Amino acid sequence: MQQLNFEPVLTSDKETALREHVRSFLAEHGDFPAANVIDSWSVCDPAFSKLLAEQGWIGMTWPTEYGGGGRSYLERYVVIEELLAAGAPVGAHWVADRQSGPLLLRFGTEAQRQYFLPKVTQGECFFAIGMSEPNSGSDLASIKTRAERVDGGWIVNGSKIWTSWAHVCHYMITLCRTAEPSDNRHAGLSQLIVDLHAEGITIRPIITLAGEAHFNEIFFDNVFVPDEHVAGKVDEGWSQVMAELAFERSGPERFLSSYKLLEESISVLGKMALKQESMATIGKFVARLMVLRQMSLSVASQLQDGKLPVNEASVVKDLGTSFEQELPEAMRLILSTEPRANAKEGIERLLSDTILKAPSFSLRGGTREILRGIIARGLGLR
Ligand SMILES: Cc1cc2nc3c(=O)[nH]c(=O)nc-3n(C[C@H](O)[C@H](O)[C@H](O)COP(=O)(O)OP(=O)(O)OC[C@H]3O[C@@H](n4cnc5c(N)ncnc54)[C@H](O)[C@@H]3O)c2cc1C
Repeated sequence: MQQLNFEPVLTSDKETALREHVRSFLAEHGDFPAANVIDSWSVCDPAFSKLLAEQGWIGMTWPTEYGGGGRSYLERYVVIEELLAAGAPVGAHWVADRQSGPLLLRFGTEAQRQYFLPKVTQGECFFAIGMSEPNSGSDLASIKTRAERVDGGWIVNGSKIWTSWAHVCHYMITLCRTAEPSDNRHAGLSQLIVDLHAEGITIRPIITLAGEAHFNEIFFDNVFVPDEHVAGKVDEGWSQVMAELAFERSGPERFLSSYKLLEESISVLGKMALKQESMATIGKFVARLMVLRQMSLSVASQLQDGKLPVNEASVVKDLGTSFEQELPEAMRLILSTEPRANAKEGIERLLSDTILKAPSFSLRGGTREILRGIIARGLGLR
């Protein structure tokens, strides 16, 4: 049986100094409204992304020749951890920074890197993820969106769904079928960089349980994509998507979506005489958080070494999203308050937002059942 690798990682004085720097930046710019602090990496604020770009906090690990910071994954980890813990609205550049940029660095052409990456690091170019379709979510290999070869490029027809921030983003890395399905279901898929303002694209919002419109349906009606916008190799998109998911699944966003609720609950409960049982509940959540943090740091360090820890990333996401989903109900039981969706601020609002948003935490980026299948296969148990 294969082993999981969660080698412990210690951060150094360099990262501690950077953490202090991020905290002083947040002391100046971090007065975020309560309505935006739960799941803040799904909150899109291009002006705030621009501020982060000015600090050099987008594309931090990318080579300087493409506008990146040439810094380590651990430094990036420290920055995003502080931003998420503060509830900063980092959604606009999130996907480009986390996975589209790394994908282009790994599989893109030199021209694509030179064209797209500096724009991303300047906070001027945002990417969406175009994978899921109405009848293909978990079973991604069954997608129907087709790209057909024409002179100088491809014509795309089909649709995508649940596409976060497509109405704000500039481009979408779109998984398409470029060859007829065969015995090998994973063959014949390609990733295209689609300009979301191109002719033939229609984007329609879908309203979430929390009343927000951050994800969409997208329809492609004969959309032309030039050859220069093929990301990686034609018909070999599947292995690229799998590599992308290691970046997508392991970060601190997979357990910090509800963090502000934990922080505020501790602050409220700290002023009350607590039962032993309630203290034990808080203690358990804090302990789980610290373990998840170490596991996620370990994955960041493996990415730094050029590895693709797909199994470990899946474990972080499975345990992390369970943590952030269980938190609201546990806090509701020990706080003597009820959730209130129309409260402007305070614990009632945080509780309500977390309850309404939490169901999606374990769906986006691969469901719990799918992750457990990946882990079992990766460990040689299936
Ligand atoms: C907030 C949010 C944002 C999202 N953003 C994006 C985005 O930007 N881009 C994008 O492409 N997608 C996005 N998604 C879509 C997300 O990736 C899919 O919802 C997810 O992969 C599940 O697919 P599905 O919704 O089609 O569910 P299904 O695949 O239909 O699954 C339904 C249920 O069946 C279970 N199931 C399915 N297959 C199996 C199996 N083989 N074994 C056991 N159980 C199984 C699943 O675990 C799930 O519980 C987003 C989703 C959410 C909730």
